[in-house]
Amino acid sequence: MPTPFDNSFVSLPKSFYMRQDPVPVAAPALIKFNHDLAAETGVQALDFPLEVLAGNTVPEGAAPLAAAYAGHQFGNFVPQLGDGRAVLLGEVVGPDGLRRDIQLKGAGRTFFSRGGDGRAAIGPVLREYLVSEAMHALGVPTTRALAAITTGETVRRETPLPGAILTRVAKSHLRVGSFQFHYARQDKAALETLTEYARARHYPEAKTPLEFLDAVVAAQAGLVAKWMGLGFIHGVMNTDNCSIAGETIDYGPCAFMDSYHPETVFSSIDRKGRYAYANQPKIAQWNLAQLAQTLVPLVGEVERLEASLHRFDDLYAAEFTRIFTAKLALAKPDTDFIVATLKMMADEGVDFTLFFRRLAYGQDISDLFTTPPTAKTWHGEWEKRRLPDAGMKAVNPVFIPRNHQIEAALKAAGQGDFAPFETLHAVLATPFSEKPEHAEFENPPNEDERVLATFCGT
Ligand code: AMP
Ligand code: MG
Repeated sequence: MPTPFDNSFVSLPKSFYMRQDPVPVAAPALIKFNHDLAAETGVQALDFPLEVLAGNTVPEGAAPLAAAYAGHQFGNFVPQLGDGRAVLLGEVVGPDGLRRDIQLKGAGRTFFSRGGDGRAAIGPVLREYLVSEAMHALGVPTTRALAAITTGETVRRETPLPGAILTRVAKSHLRVGSFQFHYARQDKAALETLTEYARARHYPEAKTPLEFLDAVVAAQAGLVAKWMGLGFIHGVMNTDNCSIAGETIDYGPCAFMDSYHPETVFSSIDRKGRYAYANQPKIAQWNLAQLAQTLVPLVGEVERLEASLHRFDDLYAAEFTRIFTAKLALAKPDTDFIVATLKMMADEGVDFTLFFRRLAYGQDISDLFTTPPTAKTWHGEWEKRRLPDAGMKAVNPVFIPRNHQIEAALKAAGQGDFAPFETLHAVLATPFSEKPEHAEFENPPNEDERVLATFCGT
C-alpha cells in the first residue's frame, strides 16, 4: 500500500500558505532514516527514497507548501514569519488514526525566506534529530525526526558548512504564531477557520473556541512541567515556536542542564535570559496569552479567556509537583520539600540528572555536592519522606543528551564520521536503562568539555 497522504491544510484558504515545491539539491546522501517512526506514522520507506528526502522529487500524493505564520520573537511582534526554510510535503494518517505532518526542514527558499537561504546546516539538523528523538524516548511530547540527509551543497553561516535536510514529523506545525498571523491582519473569517481546524484536528473533545483554548493551555502546562522535570531548556520560546498541539517544536539552541541552576541559559542570542530554565512556565503562559488575544474577536468574553489563561498556574503547579513527587518517590506530594531540594541543588551545584539517577539506584550522592556533608543532611530528610522503591528508575533517566556529547557527535559528523552520532543516538533510545558499556555518557562535562553557549545555527 502506498503512503496514504491525506492533505487537509492545503484545503484551507489561500491566505494560510503558499504552494512551494522543495528546491532540488546537488548531491544528496542519506545520514539516517527512522524506520520505527515510519512504521508508527504509516509512512512507507519505499515512498521516501533519498530523492524525496532531498526534495529532488515530490512523492505521489504530496501537496508541498510553505505555511504562513507570525510571531513574537523575544517579545517583539513580527507580523509575517512563515516557513522560510521548510516545506510541508503533506499529511499522513497513521495506523493509529493520528494525522501527522511530514515536513522537509532546510528545503530551500520560499516566499517567507526574507534574507535567508532556506537551507539548514548539518549541525543543527543532527542536533534536532538527536534531541527530538531523545525527548520522545524520555516521554515528552515532541516533533520527531524521520530522516536526515546531507545535500552535497555548502551553506554559508559564519563559516562554510555542509548542508543538510531534516524530515520532520509533527502532530501539526500550527503555532501560536499561526493565529497571530490572521489576527494581525484582522481577518476574523480566517481566525474562525483556523480555530475550527485546529480544534477538530487536535482537541475534538473541546466544543467551542474557549474550550479549545482550555485544551491548549492544559497541553502547554503539561509540556513545560515535563521539560522542568528533565532540566530541559528550549532556548527560543518565541510564539512561533509554541505548538498548538502541545509538542516541543523548533529545536534550536536547546540544551539540558548539567548542574542545576534555575537561571541557566545556553542560547547565545538570549542575552537577557528571557528563556532561562526557571522562566519557561511564565513564558509559556505569556505565549498562551498571545493566543487568547487572537481569540477575542471570536469569543468576546475576555474574562472567560483570562480565566482559561489563569488555569495555567494550577495545572502547571499540579503537574510540576506530581513529576517531582515521583522523581523523589515521596510518600505524599510535598511542594515545600521539593522547592527546598531544588534550592539546595542550586546552592551546591549538583548535577541535575545524576542526582536523581543515583537516588533511584541507591547510590552515593555526596561527591555531587560542593559541601559533601550537606548531602548527608539532605539524605536524612529525604529518607523520612520517601517510599521504598516507588518506580524511581522509570522516571529518572540515566541518560540525557548532554551538550558536550552532542557537540562531540556533531563535530565528528561535520568531518564525515557519523559513528559518535550513531552511538549517542542508540544510547538515548532507551534513556531509562543502565548501560555499563556506555557509562561515560552519564558524566557531566569536564572543565574543558563544558559547553557555555549554544547557537541557533540558522
Ligand atoms: P527559527 O529560528 O527556526 O524559529 O526561525 C524563525 C524564522 O526565521 C522562521 O520564519 C524561519 O522560517 C526563518 N528562517 C530561519 N532560518 C532561515 C533560513 N536559513 N532561511 C530562510 N528563513 C529562515
Ligand atoms: Mg521557528
